[in-house]
Amino acid sequence: MLVDTYGRVATDLRVSLTDRCNLRCTYCMPPEGLDWLPKPELLTDEEIVRLVTLAVERLGVTEVRFTGGEPLLRRGLPGIVERTAALTPRPQISLTTNGIGLDRLAAPLAAAGLDRVNVSLDTLDPETFVRLAHRDRLSDVLKGLEAADAAGLRPVKVNAVLMRGVNEHEAAGLLEFCAARGYELRFIEQMPLDAQHGWKRDDMVTADEILALLGAAHELTPDDPKARGSAPAELFLVDGGPVRVGVIGSVTRPFCGACDRVRLTADGQIRNCLFATEESDLRGAMRAGASDDELAERWRRAVHRKKPGHGIDDPSFLQPARPMSAIGG
Ligand code: SAM
Repeated sequence: MLVDTYGRVATDLRVSLTDRCNLRCTYCMPPEGLDWLPKPELLTDEEIVRLVTLAVERLGVTEVRFTGGEPLLRRGLPGIVERTAALTPRPQISLTTNGIGLDRLAAPLAAAGLDRVNVSLDTLDPETFVRLAHRDRLSDVLKGLEAADAAGLRPVKVNAVLMRGVNEHEAAGLLEFCAARGYELRFIEQMPLDAQHGWKRDDMVTADEILALLGAAHELTPDDPKARGSAPAELFLVDGGPVRVGVIGSVTRPFCGACDRVRLTADGQIRNCLFATEESDLRGAMRAGASDDELAERWRRAVHRKKPGHGIDDPSFLQPARPMSAIGG
């Protein structure tokens, strides 16, 4: 098991398959993109499957989420999913994606064993999409969402980040769009994980503000908190239910005490927290010939030293050197 000194057990593994992305969301990376990781530094498909196997079969991981960067850009994705689905015990397998290309890939990924998807969608307005993501791809995202639903990758979850003066006025519209289609919407507070280091607390649309924006159009009642478990989203029934909406207050309502996540970056580093400033190198160890036992022990040690919280409110907080796209969101 992957246990830390505070007794938390990591069972949810986020695997970044690439740091590359075909969008340039302003809260994540600059319009010109970033220096991508050199190919030799990326884990191969074989290496990813070896580490995921270790996590599931030896370290108690029960849910594997593939992410990035944009995971649909990884050619080997269907094969990686298929081999993950063949593990015993079989983990839950999900994907966080911007949805571009999902119209083509949803059915093959479902056939390979993918259980569900989280699709990022911050706006329904094509012009705002371009302003926010620097690419004119809204229609591709919407097609991807439809394909995911048609392929049975349910519940289709939608992630939205609101930015002041950009898309905050769309909160209720996004909710109504998702409710009408049976998608589960979650708003995520903007976190200090942008490559430009431009995040400012005052610019962030807080969970309280998100709830006020939604509350102006709909009646929200807190869902049974037991249903939340270790999930980051606080859930609310919309107009009495059954539609629900989630708010992930990573900054103003941190949920570190219930965190069950651990991350593997595309270049084979274990991160015990999104905001960790230290990593543990499994790629180097693996390529130097480490056995499964040795890799498992390194992984356990990396989780063991997880801090009690992300510390964003601590005056000594330092934004991690890696941006979100290179960590795996
Ligand atoms: N490319 C995929 C996507 O768009 O979903 C997966 C990676 S992306 C980094 C994962 C999630 O992180 C997205 O929902 C995105 O909106 C969110 N995200 C990225 N930067 C963020 C930030 N600074 N604060 C909050 N959420 C962020």
